[in-house]
Amino acid sequence: MRKFILLAVLFLSLTLGSATAQDIIYARSCIKTLCSDDFYGRGYVNNGDKIAAQFIKEEFAAHKLIPLGDNYFQSLGFPVVYYPDRAEIELDGQSVFAGQDFIMNPGCPSINGSFKVLVIDSSILDNNAEFERISQINLKNYFLVVDDIKGKNLLHPQRAKSILANEWHAKGLIFKNNASLVWSPAMEFAPFPILYFKKGVFPALVLKMEIKIDAAHKIHGTQNVIGMIKGKAQPDSFIVFTAHYDHLGMLGKETIFPGANDNASGVAMLLDLAKHYSKNPPAYSIVFIAFAAEEIGLIGSYYFTQNPLVELKKISLLINMDLMSTGDEGLTAVNATEYPDWFNNLKMCNSIGHYLPDIAPRGKAQNSDHYYFTEAGVPSFFFYLRGNYHHYHDIEDTYEALTLSKYPETFQLMVDFANMRMGR
Ligand SMILES: [Zn+2]
Repeated sequence: MRKFILLAVLFLSLTLGSATAQDIIYARSCIKTLCSDDFYGRGYVNNGDKIAAQFIKEEFAAHKLIPLGDNYFQSLGFPVVYYPDRAEIELDGQSVFAGQDFIMNPGCPSINGSFKVLVIDSSILDNNAEFERISQINLKNYFLVVDDIKGKNLLHPQRAKSILANEWHAKGLIFKNNASLVWSPAMEFAPFPILYFKKGVFPALVLKMEIKIDAAHKIHGTQNVIGMIKGKAQPDSFIVFTAHYDHLGMLGKETIFPGANDNASGVAMLLDLAKHYSKNPPAYSIVFIAFAAEEIGLIGSYYFTQNPLVELKKISLLINMDLMSTGDEGLTAVNATEYPDWFNNLKMCNSIGHYLPDIAPRGKAQNSDHYYFTEAGVPSFFFYLRGNYHHYHDIEDTYEALTLSKYPETFQLMVDFANMRMGR
């Protein structure tokens, strides 16, 4: 009986522990804040990323994290092409909208004026005389619609290639049959504009396109946000949790990319973990890093590995969280093949806690902020969740679209895994 009671108490405390450790209300409110219009998509327009960094800094301070260095910020800079002003197109007088109907190539240069459209298909590529004739035309006021030759014209691959490289010096190219509009930032200008239209938006016949796209370039000052909770048993050993807080910002004055799953969700879990460990002092010191400039090429995390505020060789385990809002289909662990023992431990934590339906291994990948740590010899994992969610780098990755269906389970898995590494 006594044994039964003891077991019951143990069971209760375990379930209570997992029910109270995470704070999904707090996580939701963090995501909602980070995705709000006031944060301008956490990019390069209106200092969106700086506003987000300030919010994270205040949360770190509220959880009594210790700053590393003078304050919570680690400053860095990088070049970026950005679109603070107009991103407008009219097709024969009909407005179409950036992010919703069309998107440009990363680093698209400014476009301003009235343009015509020329459809390039196999009837042109296969016809020697016609090909010659068009190649002689001055196309600087034309956009070439090139969907039908997208690198796959079998009769004339060389001709197709030269069109796609814009060797005729048209103003730009148009791809009009895109299922989704995915945006990415760039550090430098692209050689010529490419416009991607959502399938069904670009009419079969367009006589006149009015385009006003203002591209700008700057060295953008930004910052990683870093705080620590000191370990009570081995303060000189470190566990590091990371999540990038930047996203794509804005395209013109109206279009905002909220980046809810990517990666307000990871930042919310990072802040929630900071909150948890501030109340449950860990054995090792835990460092929390919200990285800047991930979207433009892992710049914030690379900078940290080159200018570490914690000796890299003292890091026992780094857990990077990016895309953390689903989980119905499980979790993928990048670097599982690099650290098979710790991957097995992760799976063990998951089966003991009955958290997620699947833990999938993946090899090394240069796809988030763990990467340069791995290269520097730091045992690192990148965890992302899988589930029924299809918005990626588009304007529909919103707070409202998230379910956070496996948030409590994933949070507890992170805690169990880190605690196991700390020998608890
Ligand atoms: Zn991301």
